[in-house]
Amino acid sequence: MGKKAKSKLKVIFLGGVGEIGKNMTALEYGDDIILIDCGMTFPDPEINPGVDYIVPDYSYLLDNKEKVKAIFLTHGHEDHIGALPTFLKDIPVPIYGSKISIAFVDNKLRKNNQDEADGRVVDDGDVIEVGAFKVEFIAVTHSIAGAFALAIETPYGMIFYTGDFKIDHTPVDGRHTDLTRIAELGKKGVLLMMQDSTNVERAGYTMSESQVGKSLDNIFNDNRNNRIVIATFASNIHRVQQIINVAIKYGRRVAFSGRSMESMVEIAKKIRAMSYPEDSIIPLDKINEIPYDRLCIISTGTQGEHDSALTRMAFNDHRKVVIGDNDTVILSASPIPGNERSIYKVINNLAKQGAKVIYESLYEVHASGHACREELKLMLALVKPKYFIPVHGEYRHLKKHIELAVEMGIPKQRTLIPELGFCIDVSKKGLLQETPVKWGSTMVVDGLETDYEQVLDRRKIAAEGLVIALVKLDSAHQDSPVEIITKGTTLDEKLLDELKESLEYKASGGDFYGMYREDAEKVIRKTLTRIFYSRIKRCPLIVPIIVE
Ligand SMILES: [Zn+2]
Ligand SMILES: [Zn+2]
Repeated sequence: MGKKAKSKLKVIFLGGVGEIGKNMTALEYGDDIILIDCGMTFPDPEINPGVDYIVPDYSYLLDNKEKVKAIFLTHGHEDHIGALPTFLKDIPVPIYGSKISIAFVDNKLRKNNQDEADGRVVDDGDVIEVGAFKVEFIAVTHSIAGAFALAIETPYGMIFYTGDFKIDHTPVDGRHTDLTRIAELGKKGVLLMMQDSTNVERAGYTMSESQVGKSLDNIFNDNRNNRIVIATFASNIHRVQQIINVAIKYGRRVAFSGRSMESMVEIAKKIRAMSYPEDSIIPLDKINEIPYDRLCIISTGTQGEHDSALTRMAFNDHRKVVIGDNDTVILSASPIPGNERSIYKVINNLAKQGAKVIYESLYEVHASGHACREELKLMLALVKPKYFIPVHGEYRHLKKHIELAVEMGIPKQRTLIPELGFCIDVSKKGLLQETPVKWGSTMVVDGLETDYEQVLDRRKIAAEGLVIALVKLDSAHQDSPVEIITKGTTLDEKLLDELKESLEYKASGGDFYGMYREDAEKVIRKTLTRIFYSRIKRCPLIVPIIVE
């Protein structure tokens, strides 16, 4: 019996490279595809108005649906699990992840009224074999509990995928990045390493999460007479746990504000990833029964999200919390690039209400979840991969990361800057670029995938306004065959007349008779667009309505 020829091993980047967000990487060998993460990204409201979130275009996986065997989750952040509600509707496959990641996924699906996923909980060190791949889950520290790096055995050798990580030697839950195991794998030989690039521009080491606890302790000590409100990411349960611990130490009760905060804490408590005495928590409804200096409110809204608990407090629009001179408000997070303007608006308004506001640039109230340069170097030194591809970063991060790897002795020709859609054939011979696969962004509005045209229309309306051209072709309206209705834009009389006349001329001249409706609409759009552009250099969205 002849030995079957080896298939190619392909690494396919569908999201998370050249961008921060919507992480999704596929590994393919023969008839097997496994997926690492299935994330979403939040849109810039100015570029994609009205869009709730964006998921990767995974047409390639839909075309190869039979091959897709499983999804492996590195951790439970939205940029790694957020596309699952959409994805699982199309391709329902088993999902492997830590207890908390799977619990977060279940919670997401429940909120979407979707069936429970085929979630399979794995522990540190577990090995799962799926088709041609053998995946080992290796503990790493990050800004969420239960994060993994993945060591994936393939027919060509080991692929090591760090996932989002930092090397925190004093993690809050005592679960360390498993450097021993990583060193062992390095010694055995790693073919390809893919590493988190988020903080490659930052020198040194990331601060330990426990340091945040110490800083908070100092702030609680200095603000004994005030009520304390702390905003943080709900998914960072170690941060929330530390805040509760400090609050209890200073004799305060804790109330949660914000739906995601309540649900994340409930999940974490249920799976025993958090613990606190039940009577240390009070419902938000009861905060007025407790003196100011005996209370700590933990809320959502660190990014200035317009609907969040903290933003509502800042704009005096919160039903239960009124901010005043007796409040110390702490923002325990750093701004995600792009959110600065909204965050400073919130900070300014909290200060206007009389609160003392403490944020990261002044105190150590936040620690990043991502490795800085020295940690990235350590990981590279332990893994000693033959080939290296940086991931989880914008182009500038990826490029800097390659420079770092080259500094560490990896020859440049054994590295590659990945781009969306890249399909890389990985073997001992090298990293070969195959024809790229289809890639892109799918916009989701109210749980439904939305045509990009619609988003462009929204953008146009927001920027330039809306113009409705009503053209009446029936004989009853011969005196006024054209009406122009505008929304969100004002036109001067002269322009309005010119627009009307141009269409009246066509309508009365019989231009539209015998034309297909779509063609007539096209003519109307074209005529008006030309006039708008030549007169005021603007292009409002034009909606032609033809009445016959
Ligand atoms: Zn993460
Ligand atoms: Zn991430």
